Amino acid sequence: MVHVIAPNAYASFLHWMPGSDQIIIAEEEKNKALNIIAGAALLFFLDFNGFGRAGQLEKPLADSRAPKVMIDHHPEPEGGFDVVFSDTAASSTAEMVYGIITALGGEEAVTLDIAQCLYAGIVTDTGSFSYGCNNPRTYEIVARLMEKGVDGAHLHRLIYSTYSVDRMRLLGFCLSEKLEVMEDCRAAYISLTKNELKRFNYQEGDTEGVVNYALSIKGIKLAALFMEQNDHVKASFRSTGNVDVNQLARTHYHGGGHVNAAGGKSFQGLENTLIEFVALVKKGFD
Ligand code: 5GP
Repeated sequence: MVHVIAPNAYASFLHWMPGSDQIIIAEEEKNKALNIIAGAALLFFLDFNGFGRAGQLEKPLADSRAPKVMIDHHPEPEGGFDVVFSDTAASSTAEMVYGIITALGGEEAVTLDIAQCLYAGIVTDTGSFSYGCNNPRTYEIVARLMEKGVDGAHLHRLIYSTYSVDRMRLLGFCLSEKLEVMEDCRAAYISLTKNELKRFNYQEGDTEGVVNYALSIKGIKLAALFMEQNDHVKASFRSTGNVDVNQLARTHYHGGGHVNAAGGKSFQGLENTLIEFVALVKKGFD
C-alpha cells in the first residue's frame, strides 16, 4: 500500500490531478501522517533534499528506520538518505520520476493518470517551458507523455486558467500598487501584508507566479515577493543568469532552492525584512 503525504496544503489549481483526493495533508491530519510514517517499510522523498523542508514531519522522517530514497533536482542535497537520485540538470523531479518508472517497468508502466501528473510537474516547474528546460530530454519525455494521451492545452487550462476573481484582483493590486522597482540595481520586489492578503480573500497558491511578473520587466535580473504570515515573512526569489538566489535564500532567509528560483523565511517582521532586502540588493548580497 502506497501513501502520499504532503506537509501542507497545495494550490487548488492542482486538485484535478488523478489521485489528488488521496493525498494526506500532514498539517490537517497530523496523526494519520505520523502513523503512516511510523509503519512505513520504505520512504520516498520527492522534490526536496533535506528533512527540514518537511516542516513538522522533519524529526519523525529523520528518525524513521525505514530505508530512505531521495528523488530531487535541487542543488546541495543533505545527508541522511540511503539511496540518492539527485540531478540538478533535470527540469523537474517529475522528469526524474519518469526516468525511474520507465527504467523499472518500461514505457508501458506509464498510465495516462501518471502521464498527466508528470506533465503537470514538468510544466509547473519550468514555468510552462520557459526556464530550466534547455535540454532535449525534457521535450522527449513530454513527447512520450503526449503519446500516452496527455492533452497539453487542456491541462494548461486546468493549471493556469482557474483564477478566482479575488486572485486576479490580487495580481492586479500587486502589479499596480505594490511593485517596487530598483532600476539601478536591476531588481524589483512586491510585498503583501496580512491585511492585504485578507482583503483579497487569499487562498493557498493565489500568489503563485506573481514574482515572475516582476522578473519579466525588461532589464530586471532579480525579483522578490515577500508575504507577511502569522509568525514569519515568506520570501520568494527569482533571477536570471548568474544572480544566485539560492545562496541569497540560504545565507539570509533560512531557505534555499535553485540558482534562479529560491525561497525562504524572515523572522524580522515585514518592514525590517524589506529594509534588509533593499540593503542587501544595493550592496550586491553576501
Ligand atoms: P517558491 O518561491 O515558488 O516558493 O519556491 C521556489 C523554489 O525555492 C522551489 O524550488 C522551492 O523548493 C524552494 N524553496 C522555497 N521555500 C524554501 C525554503 O523555505 N527552504 C528551501 N530550502 N527551499 C525553499
